[in-house]
Amino acid sequence: MAEQTQPGTVLSATDLTPHVRQLVIKPKTTKIAFQPGQWLSLQLPVGPKPPLNRAYSMADPSSPYGELTLVFDLVPGGLGSTYLSQLKSGDAITLSGPYGRFTLPQSLDRELILIGRYTGLVPMRCLLKQIFFEKLHTPVLLIAVAPHEEEVLFHQEWLTMAVQEPSFRYLPIVAGQNETHAVEKTLAMLSPLLADQPKVAPMLCGTKAFVRPLRSYFMEQGYDRKEVKVETYD
Ligand SMILES: Cc1cc2nc3c(=O)[nH]c(=O)nc-3n(C[C@H](O)[C@H](O)[C@H](O)COP(=O)(O)OP(=O)(O)OC[C@H]3O[C@@H](n4cnc5c(N)ncnc54)[C@H](O)[C@@H]3O)c2cc1C
Repeated sequence: MAEQTQPGTVLSATDLTPHVRQLVIKPKTTKIAFQPGQWLSLQLPVGPKPPLNRAYSMADPSSPYGELTLVFDLVPGGLGSTYLSQLKSGDAITLSGPYGRFTLPQSLDRELILIGRYTGLVPMRCLLKQIFFEKLHTPVLLIAVAPHEEEVLFHQEWLTMAVQEPSFRYLPIVAGQNETHAVEKTLAMLSPLLADQPKVAPMLCGTKAFVRPLRSYFMEQGYDRKEVKVETYD
């Protein structure tokens, strides 16, 4: 079945870091109701056979006005992100959605561990806002992995959240560009935290090279595949 696309307008375009940009988009036809953790598909007028479909997770929960916040990194030579990075306020964009199942587990009876690398932190931001807005009282540990000190996403917001929300712990890691190294650094921090503890509810997001070894680690620790929620970007 063909997906239902609709036109939208870019309301704002803002640089968050030297290589990460935020777009706020307003769908023109129908308001999009979504769960935090879900994503939109953008149909972009580029590439050898346009439209080029690219997925972007929602960075903010639903707003009463229907605007949608997306955050993306500029991939060197990447067709989709290069096109998006030159959009400005007032430009048109075609979109569809929402899609995806990277949403909060139905029962929040365990500590939630959110681990994202770089823009893999975008859905985590949306999920955390939901958790604290709805006062879900779940203990949450966020491990936020960045490729570079200048590219730590949402750092100030999470520091503030950690001060305001006693159930929230925030561990940033600057791990460099290499994803294998990022996995090693993440595991070095994670393993002692999980040792001899009851099971947690892990949610992992980023590229496959980052997410898959971490999922394997949880499964080696006795987790069922279904107990580890993942979203991969490539
Ligand atoms: C469900 C889902 C949600 C997504 N949400 C986001 C989001 O919120 N923010 C976001 O920046 N991207 C997100 N992506 C990735 C996005 O759809 C594009 O793949 C990304 O912007 C690269 O597209 P491109 O055409 O510029 O690069 P392409 O030419 O398609 O090159 C992709 C290559 O760039 C590398 N790369 C570097 N950064 C990324 C990245 N962020 N995603 C994918 N590949 C990357 C990978 O090695 C990959 O092989 C999501 C993908 C999926 C499937």
